[in-house]
Amino acid sequence: MEIIHVSAECYPVAKAGGLGDVIGALPKYQCQLGHTAKVVMPMYRTKFLLQNEWELVHESGSYLGNTWFKYAVIKEKTNKLGFDLYLIDIDGLLNRENIYGYDDDTERFTAFQIAVLHWMNSWSHTPDVVHVHDHHTGLIPFMLKYCYGLEKLRRIKTVLTIHNAQYQGLFGWNKVHYLPSFDNWKSGLLDWQGNINPLAAAVKCADKVTTVSPHYMAELRREANGLEDLFEYEKGKCTGILNGIDVEVWDPATDPLISTNYSIADVEAGKAANKKAACAAFDLDESKPLIVFIGRMVGEKAADLLPSVIGESVQMHEGRLNFVVLGNGNPKVEYELQALQELIAPNLGLYLGYNEKLAHQLYAGADFLLMPSRVEPCGLNQMYAMRYGTVPIVRDTGGLHDTVVDIGAPNFAGYGIVFTHATVFDINEAIHRAMGWYLERPDILQAAREKMMRIDHSWEKSAADYVALYQS
Ligand code: ADP
Repeated sequence: MEIIHVSAECYPVAKAGGLGDVIGALPKYQCQLGHTAKVVMPMYRTKFLLQNEWELVHESGSYLGNTWFKYAVIKEKTNKLGFDLYLIDIDGLLNRENIYGYDDDTERFTAFQIAVLHWMNSWSHTPDVVHVHDHHTGLIPFMLKYCYGLEKLRRIKTVLTIHNAQYQGLFGWNKVHYLPSFDNWKSGLLDWQGNINPLAAAVKCADKVTTVSPHYMAELRREANGLEDLFEYEKGKCTGILNGIDVEVWDPATDPLISTNYSIADVEAGKAANKKAACAAFDLDESKPLIVFIGRMVGEKAADLLPSVIGESVQMHEGRLNFVVLGNGNPKVEYELQALQELIAPNLGLYLGYNEKLAHQLYAGADFLLMPSRVEPCGLNQMYAMRYGTVPIVRDTGGLHDTVVDIGAPNFAGYGIVFTHATVFDINEAIHRAMGWYLERPDILQAAREKMMRIDHSWEKSAADYVALYQS
């Protein structure tokens, strides 16, 4: 099969979160299964663009409403990522440093999607599947089915994967003219509660819909930022497929971004060496347990609770544990963490920003990774942590529910610490339990580390599940 992934992110070209990781890995594993998977994404001005070689494969133009735009398609020359990678440039819209966050994101991603289909329409063949990801590419299934001039592409099957249903990309009907002319009888498919909602349109129009974990799929029928009824109605074509992780990039035995490589055989010594390096970076006492948070500081991740959690926890345990927080986002949370750090500097390391190398070092060096998420469609951090022998402390939601078993489960089948509510009280209770295991039963934590590191989170299984879905 030929599968075209259309996405706003792809690691290492451009990544803001888990979506980038998935698009950087899934196509590679689909190619290894004998299929032809390709990625098409916008040509942002990132480091990857400047550091690699490209060839021009297509140049043309199309309309965004009444505005004519020229676009160019370039292809990475060496198959560096293990699949064909195409970038689409639209001067004035996509030639930016950042992926998101501009006032004209609607125009940027609508024009990108129009260009993708315009280019595909010029091919001498049609691919089997167009696989779109999140709302940034959510108009494609609708356009492919109902826009005039794309009749040749109608036989292509479409799959939508939802990495995060909180963001839906909605815009007003006053911008409907951006879309190439389409069968007006179908305009209701674009609508959700009076707006054009690209995510809802994709849920309605794609042949299959997946989420990045089975539990998240079930949750969306109860809580989906306004789309609950839609998920209930469309449940027949919806399934959850758990993300894998790229076990080549995320391997403590070979990871060039950590201070000391290790494997299950020498996990205790390896983690101790990495903890030393991680603690040294923040001037923390390495003999104390180290709990780490890595992620976007947004409500979904319950980052707003971190200042209270950390402040109370350090006080409750009389400074006998340390935290490191790596991330950025909500300015209020950033400010509160900075203020807290001034008060408890010996117990809190803080890095406000994005730092891939530090993230790897922390996964390797931490004793525990904290994920109190209110919403977690899959969550990759807990899987990286487990692969590096770091015990996850997670809220029982979404993909965290599907991947972490509590250490208190019968017959010592578990390996993480799971709690129910995203409240300061519940999180601190979970940290208290973690401290208990750390101080009183290090043997059980050691067994948990070894157990976690043996779990197979590789993409092979998920990649095969996607292929089965395409075939269905
Ligand atoms: P989401 O996509 O919702 O942000 P995921 O858990 O699916 O969350 O993926 C987060 C990814 O982004 C992980 O690879 C994580 O290590 C990385 N990440 C998040 N914030 C940072 C940061 N500040 N610095 C480095 N890596 C980060």
